[in-house]
Amino acid sequence: MTTKAKSSDSEFETNELQHPQELQEGRVERTTGSFYRVRFQDGSRTECVLRGKIRLNELDLTNPIAVGDLVRVRREDGIQVIQDILPRENYIIRRATKSTAKRQILCSNIDQAVIIFTIEKPHTPFGFLDSFLVTAGAYHIPAAVVVNKIDLMRQSKQHKLDEFLEVYRNLGYRVEALSANDPDSISIAQDLLSGKKSFLTGRSGSGKSTFVNLADPNLNLKTAEVSKTHRYGRHTTTFAEMFELEAGGWVIDAPGVREFHLTDLELSEVAHYFPEMLDKLSECRFHNCLHVNEPDCAVLEGIESGEISETRYMSYLYMLEELKSHQEY
Ligand code: GDP
Ligand code: ZN
Repeated sequence: MTTKAKSSDSEFETNELQHPQELQEGRVERTTGSFYRVRFQDGSRTECVLRGKIRLNELDLTNPIAVGDLVRVRREDGIQVIQDILPRENYIIRRATKSTAKRQILCSNIDQAVIIFTIEKPHTPFGFLDSFLVTAGAYHIPAAVVVNKIDLMRQSKQHKLDEFLEVYRNLGYRVEALSANDPDSISIAQDLLSGKKSFLTGRSGSGKSTFVNLADPNLNLKTAEVSKTHRYGRHTTTFAEMFELEAGGWVIDAPGVREFHLTDLELSEVAHYFPEMLDKLSECRFHNCLHVNEPDCAVLEGIESGEISETRYMSYLYMLEELKSHQEY
């Protein structure tokens, strides 16, 4: 009995030694069409393809594998094939486009989500910012806001910026205001990004690449507006990419993301991810209050008294409408 167990043990060991790299674990850094660039634990990188079986498992997704996924890869007939995906710690998902039920995972296994917000050049709509914050909240991912290009702001608008910062800081978000082309911002970029896995978003031209370069100049990401237009034009779909920082951590950039179409949320849940509304929900007369025109609504009272910002409430209504229109499909 003892001998038998021993012999099967040693058989197993021999097997492992003969094929030391049978199954290798790695992290997906980039997805382009049907290819996935995987970085292995030893630092090497390879383009991999996907086994058909995984593709079929998650039918309502446009992408069965996302940047950030931990996968196991095996070489088959000279090709590196992704065999399976390890369970995701978290992920950010959205409807792929406004008019589809198909969903897209933007990234997985991240520590924080960061948005670069610009008041002008380009103008970032508040709806975009707020739906980003709601999405991050719904997936329990800490969110941070970087208000960039403040050097372009006219002096006369300074008080608007101060108001903005106050609103979002009071909600508990980390908010930084800076000019990414000013070296003084290096320490902020490093402090925010080093050692963490961050999903970075913002409108094209808002300064995402400039900001990542501050945290790690070696990356030397292209920053010219022209090249960005070109890059965007070529990749009409979103190909997210993960950049490793020398100081540790990764930044995931998804260049084509312009909107977060909410998914997986009930109408009555939307207010749960508006921290200023969450505090008041128990005071509404109806437990299923949507805070639109119901009597004795604590949220509407909060707007009346100025406690809740009107632009935040507009974003809330917009998200509600968007979810409603989708649920009517
Ligand atoms: P991305 O498309 O979000 O990656 O934006 P880029 O990083 O490529 O920046 C777009 C343009 O804005 C570039 O020409 C940058 O030099 C410029 N830019 C970035 N940050 C600032 C800033 O704080 N102030 C000003 N004036 N320009 C900036
Ligand atoms: Zn209410």
